[in-house]
Amino acid sequence: MTDPNVLQSKLERLCDAYAVQLPEKLKHIEEMWEQLSQNSWDGEGFQILYRMVHSLTGSGKTFGFVLLSDAARNLEEYLKQVIQIKTALSEEQYQHIQKLMRELRQVAIYRETLFNDQAGSIAIAPPNYDARSPRHIFLLEDDPEQAEELKVQLGYFGYEVTVFYTLADFRVAMQRTADAVILTDISFPDNSLGGVEVIKEIQAGRDTPFPVIFITVHDEFVIRLEAARAGGIAYLSKPINIGKLIDKLDALTSTLTTVPYRVMIIDDSESLAAYYATVLEQAGMVPMVVHNPLNLIKVLLEFAPDLILIDLYMPEYNGMDLAKVIRQLDAFVSIPIVFLSAEIDLDKQLVAMSLGGDDFLAKPIQPQHLISSVNSRIQRSLILRSLVLRDSLTGLFNHTAIKDELDREVVRSKRHGIPLAFAMIDIDHFKQINDAYGHPIGDRIIKSLARLLKQRLRASDLVGRYGGEEFAVVLVNVDRTAALQVLDTIRKNFSNLRYLADGKEFSVTFSCGIADISQFRDVTKLIEASDKALYNAKHAGRNQVVVSDAPTAEAVGFI
Ligand code: GH3
Ligand code: MG
Ligand code: MG
Repeated sequence: MTDPNVLQSKLERLCDAYAVQLPEKLKHIEEMWEQLSQNSWDGEGFQILYRMVHSLTGSGKTFGFVLLSDAARNLEEYLKQVIQIKTALSEEQYQHIQKLMRELRQVAIYRETLFNDQAGSIAIAPPNYDARSPRHIFLLEDDPEQAEELKVQLGYFGYEVTVFYTLADFRVAMQRTADAVILTDISFPDNSLGGVEVIKEIQAGRDTPFPVIFITVHDEFVIRLEAARAGGIAYLSKPINIGKLIDKLDALTSTLTTVPYRVMIIDDSESLAAYYATVLEQAGMVPMVVHNPLNLIKVLLEFAPDLILIDLYMPEYNGMDLAKVIRQLDAFVSIPIVFLSAEIDLDKQLVAMSLGGDDFLAKPIQPQHLISSVNSRIQRSLILRSLVLRDSLTGLFNHTAIKDELDREVVRSKRHGIPLAFAMIDIDHFKQINDAYGHPIGDRIIKSLARLLKQRLRASDLVGRYGGEEFAVVLVNVDRTAALQVLDTIRKNFSNLRYLADGKEFSVTFSCGIADISQFRDVTKLIEASDKALYNAKHAGRNQVVVSDAPTAEAVGFI
């Protein structure tokens, strides 16, 4: 949650730092102006002066030097005219610049306290942040066997379950609980509608009702109605279809797993860049500042931002050119690019947009405005991107996307010497399963493996659907031994899941091949090796994880 006090003190510190540097900046401007001779034309010198003044226009207001910023703008505009004429200054022009310089000096001490109001107004929770404790489930079920089975099955998907066997125990526990997802049976030995009644009781008087899912053998309309009235969000008949139950639970808890937005800031002014970074960071985003665009491409591929903020005018590179370069990279064709500038000329803004920018924010930018602009643009682009990058059945990265992610992570891993493992997974005898139980059941199994992978791996690991019943996982900062351990646990969990079809219970297994980037030259070799390891796992009898050119999981002792 954004703490307005923390933000305010950070912003104040940035302002103070700016104020300390200001006399030096003004001195440089004056020295530059003194160097320029009145008698001959020095185009390059005037350009330098112009840029120095321009940077004051943009940054001054942000840090509370409003009058300075206005004075700088007047000088900047005049210098622009002079530069276009390209001839030695007339006496009149010289005097006018002298006057504007004096004004600039005079107003440099006026500083306004900017942040009292603004900082307070950013005390909002970023949309992708939620502190509720994730995935804790209270299960009320009088049949110990069913309760235990459900607890185990949900455990495989990363849900922690506390079981209550009686209405009385449950009642007591709920008095001490502020937040939980409830899963409850309806009929109890002493009360055929006990589950519904106890839920009505605990929901009474609560502002936010507990999310409740009813599970029951009674599939009657009247009972469904009662359950809905008690605040049930779902109603599942026994025997429980675990896939459906997980769907509901995932939907309830999905907001908890989103990752923070990443924003790249390209600005030659260190103080302004730090200011934007601070504001965005306080709103729950991950900022990254780039001062030197020379290594931009490398940093872009590594950092993988969701949005890029670019200063329109920088001394050596202009923002529009950088935007063009960024747009030439396949991975960033559609990334939102927002220009920042003190430019007030509408025509110039339009040119900037036509050259690959999505939007234009005029300096100075209020913290609240920066946060909401960045947020809404990222949200929109993520929705569009997910349609392109995600597999519709599982919501995982599709084949192309996971390969792109792998490319990116391999670059990062090679550069920083971070371990990286790649795993290929293929469901065993899937054709037989489709043949025996039908395609829709097959689809459900694919989905349940997708969820298991997503929930069991860390947020930094990347999971994709590589093909029909094949999956690919990029494990970041994990070597092959650790990857083997993780995937072998998932393999065991998956093989323990019980599916139901046509009244029959069955389970499914997968095979997995792992390779580790430290042993391979490039991505192609890495994929080949994990594919070969997968092939070996299949041939060694399936339902196992094999590491490329290494013993099986069994031999290493994980089974
Ligand atoms: P192995 O253990 O050697 O991997 O045997 P297998 O039967 O799993 O291998 P094979 O590659 O021959 O068959 C894969 C089957 O997966 C064939 C195809 O019908 C099925 N399949 C592929 N995509 C989907 C899908 O999206 N849904 C369903 N239900 N089935 C799919
Ligand atoms: Mg296959
Ligand atoms: Mg298969």
